[in-house]
Amino acid sequence: MNQFQSALEQLGRAVVVKPFDSTLIERLSVPEREVRVSIPVLMDDGTTKLFEGYRVQHSSLRGPYKGGIRYHEQADNNEVRALAFWMTLKCAIANIPMGGGKGGVTVNPKLLSKTELERLSRGFVRMLYPVFGPHVDVPAPDVNTTPEILGWMADEYALLTGDTTGAAFTGKPVGRGGSEGRGQATGMGGFYVFEALKEFLHLPGECRVVVQGMGNVGGNAASIFQKHGHKIIAISDSRGGIVNESGLDIAAVEAYKKETGTLVGFPGSRTISNTELLELLCDVLIPAALENQITKENASRIQTKLVLELANGPTTPEADDILLARGIPVIPDILANAGGVVVSTFEWEQNLKNEHWTEEVVLQKLQQLLAKEAVHVWKHATELKTDLRRAAFVVALSRLDATLRKAQ
Ligand code: NAD
Repeated sequence: MNQFQSALEQLGRAVVVKPFDSTLIERLSVPEREVRVSIPVLMDDGTTKLFEGYRVQHSSLRGPYKGGIRYHEQADNNEVRALAFWMTLKCAIANIPMGGGKGGVTVNPKLLSKTELERLSRGFVRMLYPVFGPHVDVPAPDVNTTPEILGWMADEYALLTGDTTGAAFTGKPVGRGGSEGRGQATGMGGFYVFEALKEFLHLPGECRVVVQGMGNVGGNAASIFQKHGHKIIAISDSRGGIVNESGLDIAAVEAYKKETGTLVGFPGSRTISNTELLELLCDVLIPAALENQITKENASRIQTKLVLELANGPTTPEADDILLARGIPVIPDILANAGGVVVSTFEWEQNLKNEHWTEEVVLQKLQQLLAKEAVHVWKHATELKTDLRRAAFVVALSRLDATLRKAQ
């Protein structure tokens, strides 16, 4: 099953629990628009290389398309399509006035120099700017795209269109139209969702946490959980992971990674593979890297009390069945990692109103919104006697359905 088929499988499972109008389901099963571009980039050696880029605009039912841009060597149209579909649902769950979109470029950014990366990012916008805009489609960061990259994109968009709002891209650097709190928003949002549901899930006061991925999302989540009294016993990146049963000092791990380029060899830790990491005994397992990490192959060996999906699509539908049968709850991506798009939407709103909110205001609004929606999803799961993923889909579909009815 490719990513998009997996996403549609999740949709099919949700409508078994609660049926919806077939027009809505048909519309969500096909993206509204897909654009594929070929981006010429002048390389530092004087040659020109072509990179393939995508933007999938899945649904504008509830507002402008909204979703990140991913730079990854395995990014392809199917993956981007699935990610765009999940954005539509995520924005509906968070109850923000946005639709769903996503973008990607098939590239390993580690192989590009900084100037090449800037030319690629500006080139992506030159190819796609007619389909972007503050009220049309508002991209944001995702895997391997940083505030600096989003800053270049916003700048290129302004040069091409004369836009003065800066609201066509979010996740920009603070000081160049970015919002306070956007960097940590996805990790922070995941923590707020966890806090809101912790009591229902009967988790210990001090949890033993395992994090897969130490990028923007995983790194921030690890620091936040540690700061709130939980113990990070293992963490990884694409090169492998480290474990220390007594707990890792995340700030020291980050400093070590910055200095050496790897987690491996962090003093006092043992090296483990990403496969082993997922199977460690813990209270909370946080996949925060890529899709398809918990599958039918390893789901029976997962030993956690909770999976908090901060990555998009880390658990396959077959693995969901296995975890459900084993009584391991999964807080689904479309709820758990919604903090990123919520603060992106706050950034968009600040840009349009020419305001700048403090970090305290941003995080307080984020917490209020996510805590409320997390409990809302929990109640649906209880009422419908189903898992949190199906319940989250039902919440999103109900809101999309209401919008569709109003529009008809
Ligand atoms: P990032 O590029 O900042 O970090 C990704 C991390 O994953 C890196 O540490 C990388 O080394 C690691 N990684 C890659 N392949 C791995 C593997 N096979 N095993 C273990 N680690 C691996 O990306 P990010 O923005 O942190 O995004 C991570 C996930 O969170 C993605 O699924 C993304 O779609 C999702 N997400 C991101 C945001 C956001 O605001 N950035 C919002 C919602 C969801």
